Amino acid sequence: MKQVKNKTTDVVLIACHSGSLLQNTPLGAGSLCAALPPSCRCEILNLPPDFDLEYICEKVSDLKPKVIGFSLYVWNRTRLQDLAHALRYFLPDTVFIAGGPEVSCNTSSWQQNSKSTPVYDVVIQGHAELLFKQAVVNVLDGTFVRSAETQSWCEIGTLLIESPWLNGVLEPQRGVLLETARGCPFRCAYCFDARGSHAVTQTPYMRLQKELELFVARGVEQVWVLDSSFNVPCFRGKELLHLFLEYAPRIHYHLEAKAEYIDAETAQLLAQLSCSVQVGLQSVHAQVLENVDRTLDMPRFEAGLFELYQHGITYGIDLIYGLPGDTYAGLCKSLEATLEFYPNQIELFPLALLPGTILEQRRAMFTINALPDPPYTVTSTSSMDTEAFSRAAVLTAALNLFYNTGRAVAYFEVLCSACNCNGVEFLEHLGIWLEHEGHISTLAPLPDWEVEQAYKLQHEFVRTYFSKLGLENLVPAALDIMHYHYLYAETILAPALVPRAAQDSNTAQIESGSWSLAEGVRMGEFSYPVELYHTTGVEDLIEFVYLNPTKRCGALFYRDPDGEVECRVIPVEVVELFRSCIGATQLPAQFGSLEPSRTAAWLQEALESGILLQRPS
Ligand code: SF4
Repeated sequence: MKQVKNKTTDVVLIACHSGSLLQNTPLGAGSLCAALPPSCRCEILNLPPDFDLEYICEKVSDLKPKVIGFSLYVWNRTRLQDLAHALRYFLPDTVFIAGGPEVSCNTSSWQQNSKSTPVYDVVIQGHAELLFKQAVVNVLDGTFVRSAETQSWCEIGTLLIESPWLNGVLEPQRGVLLETARGCPFRCAYCFDARGSHAVTQTPYMRLQKELELFVARGVEQVWVLDSSFNVPCFRGKELLHLFLEYAPRIHYHLEAKAEYIDAETAQLLAQLSCSVQVGLQSVHAQVLENVDRTLDMPRFEAGLFELYQHGITYGIDLIYGLPGDTYAGLCKSLEATLEFYPNQIELFPLALLPGTILEQRRAMFTINALPDPPYTVTSTSSMDTEAFSRAAVLTAALNLFYNTGRAVAYFEVLCSACNCNGVEFLEHLGIWLEHEGHISTLAPLPDWEVEQAYKLQHEFVRTYFSKLGLENLVPAALDIMHYHYLYAETILAPALVPRAAQDSNTAQIESGSWSLAEGVRMGEFSYPVELYHTTGVEDLIEFVYLNPTKRCGALFYRDPDGEVECRVIPVEVVELFRSCIGATQLPAQFGSLEPSRTAAWLQEALESGILLQRPS
């Protein structure tokens, strides 16, 4: 990405990301820069959310740009507006141009604002490349005409030919954004993606092919595909998947799909890629969906998800609470139906009332109250009061903790049926417990739990809740299952084991320093034989406990050199032996009740297999 250096420039493009990996790439600013004439000197500033306003103001002023472009999104509008006001003082002659979704969807409010605070000379609504280029050319050749009020320009087309990746404006990192299309064929009333039309403009395949080749050459690991319904129509999705498979088959793809359009062939193609697919459900209630101009063909939706499930594809489902006409009970029904699809992830969001959307025009019809500023979250409707919104927020926190961050899809239903409740009831109990224990508060933003934190809270809750229900006898097995899946999931993400013979000579020949487990190795202790979880799994917790006597054991988890996850049963004493080695500079000759010969044999094997390593102190 172009960096600001200490020199003057024609154009500065200012973006500010939200801190999330997905939004870190200034693709919008990059696309504007790529569209400018090659002779134009353009710098991109991609600011972190907590940027130092005074420092940035000074830096940008030093560059004396003739044009500054502000890339405004829901997460940065307020901060960048403050920056624009501060910069206006130092750069009175510079032409300020604002673009991005926040400007595009907020026509009336920008026009009103412009009279009192004309900080921007121009706002460009829609895809801005062509108009921004025109404005910059006019400023540079002296033909730009300023006016006392902000000028509002609307897109005159879309330009998807120039690629910010291919012309070097943006440098591919480990994760990148790939824009495969703009627009959406659907028109959900709360969304601005469709921009009032069904038009979808596709990125030319030749550009995509070259971008994929570049990503492979630069070692990109993950691609977030920007395309709100990549598989609509079906043939387009298949063409894109063939392209990914042909030019960059080893990259992991994050895709958004329309479930009703996923057929067997699409699922087969997806199964050949490393990918995750997110689909929007939002609600299962026909009237609620009708209120926001959405339709749902449930049989086709189910068929699409079944294809994903059958082909072993990772998928998530989006739900929205607070939709007009929906209630808290309605949300619970939608969530229960969603859990029955066994998604790996369920994204549950409150509705946002984006200015300029069709839904905003229906605000009075449904008595929608929402925050006046970004993120415009709805706080009550005629069918859901503020208390119901608070309950929905608590349910969201419980879902995020237990199901999403806690990666519970494999055993969630088993725990719920052991407690004789459905998934929503289980989560509601968790929510009450989280509030009671002070882990969440409806008055504070919902926490973002780390996996390990979530895992500890899951354990604590299951112990407490099962005991409250008089199910103490099920607790060891319940905790075992959670432990097994936690270690398994952590191992999938870890590096594969490298046997000593295959280690590079520097690693293999270290003969002093402290001992540790190899990075990809996890260990655990279990109350029941761990192979029961690894081979057959558990479908009914009560039956499992009835049929199987407890028998403590240990297990090692690692990925073998072929990448497959191994779960190897070992005696608990050996787990303790390996633990005692961590941080030690000498390996023990004897440990606990283990015979010296067995101690030596376990350690020798751990060394040969690469499980134990000596690291320089
Ligand atoms: S919510 Fe999704 S499907 Fe609906 S208009 Fe927006 S992008 Fe399209």
